[in-house]
Amino acid sequence: MSKDFNPVKVEMPEGIRCAICLTYDTDMAGGYAPPGGSCHGHTMPALQEYILRLCDTAESFGARLQFFQIGNGLEDKDVHYLREVLQRGHVVDSHTYSHIALITDDRKALDEELALTNQLLEQRLGWKSTVLRGPGGYHEGLRGYTGNQRIIMKNGFHWVSCEWNRTLLEQPLERAIEAPAHDVPYAYDSGLIELPLQGFTDRVWFETVKMADRELYDAWRAEWGHRAVPAGARAPWTAEDALESWIEYNLATADFTYDNGLLWVICWHPYSHYLHDPDNRMLPALLEHCAAKKEKAWVCTMRDAVGMIAA
Ligand SMILES: [Zn+2]
Repeated sequence: MSKDFNPVKVEMPEGIRCAICLTYDTDMAGGYAPPGGSCHGHTMPALQEYILRLCDTAESFGARLQFFQIGNGLEDKDVHYLREVLQRGHVVDSHTYSHIALITDDRKALDEELALTNQLLEQRLGWKSTVLRGPGGYHEGLRGYTGNQRIIMKNGFHWVSCEWNRTLLEQPLERAIEAPAHDVPYAYDSGLIELPLQGFTDRVWFETVKMADRELYDAWRAEWGHRAVPAGARAPWTAEDALESWIEYNLATADFTYDNGLLWVICWHPYSHYLHDPDNRMLPALLEHCAAKKEKAWVCTMRDAVGMIAA
C-alpha cells in the first residue's frame, strides 16, 4: 500500500478564527433498524420534521447546515422536505445510493451507485453534488484504494469525507476533543481530497461510548426501529448522562477548535438526535456557544470547508 497521504493547507477566510463544519447524514441508520433491516434513505415523516426543525434552529443563528443523502431515498414519491432544505439555503450532497462502503471491492457497483445518485439528485432536486460522504467511516480512508478514488473522481467529486480514526475508542476523551488538530484533511495521490470525520460521531457516542444495556437496545430496535417514537420517549439503552456528556464533549471540542484556529468536521445524524435529543438541545447549545466567542467561530457547510483547502 502506498502512503497515499499528501498534506494540504487549510486557510481560514478573512475574519474567521475557526470553522466548524457541521454535517448530518440523513439516513435511517441500519444500526437502528429492526433485525434484518438495512440502512436506507426513505426518511420517515417524524425525521423529516426533525430535519426541518434543525434548519429552523440553524437559521435563527444565521447558519447553514450540510446534509448527506442516500440516493434510494430520492426515489420516494415525496421529497418536499429536501427541496425545502435546499430552498432555505442549506446544502445536500451524496451519501451513495444504498450506503455502499467506498472501500468496496465491487468497483462497478460503486460506479453505478454514484452515477445513479447524481442522476437522482439532478432529477428530483435539480441539484449537483460535489462532495461525497462515505458510509460508515474507514480507519485509513481510501488510502491505497486508487481504483475506488478514480471512480469517485470520475463521478464528479473532488472531495470525499470518509476517514474515521477508530483508535479514538481506545484513547482518553481528550484525544477525541483534539481530533481537529490530528485527523486533518489531506490529498490522496490521485488528487482527491479527504476531509476526515473528526472526533466522535453521534452514532458512536450513543451506541458505543454510552451504551449501557445492549439487550435493551436490541429489544428497542425490534419494536421501534425506523418507526416514530412517542413524544417524551427516552432511548433506554444509553447511560443516564449520555446527552449531557455529549453536549459537554462537543462544546469542549468547539473550544479546542477555536483556541487553535482549526477546521473541525463534525458528522451527526438527524435520526440519532431525534432519538437521543428529542428536545433539540445539542444544536442550539453549539450555535450559542460559537456565537458567544469574541472572534468568529464559523459554523459552516462542507462546501464552505472545501473552499478553505489549498492542495
Ligand atoms: Zn450513513
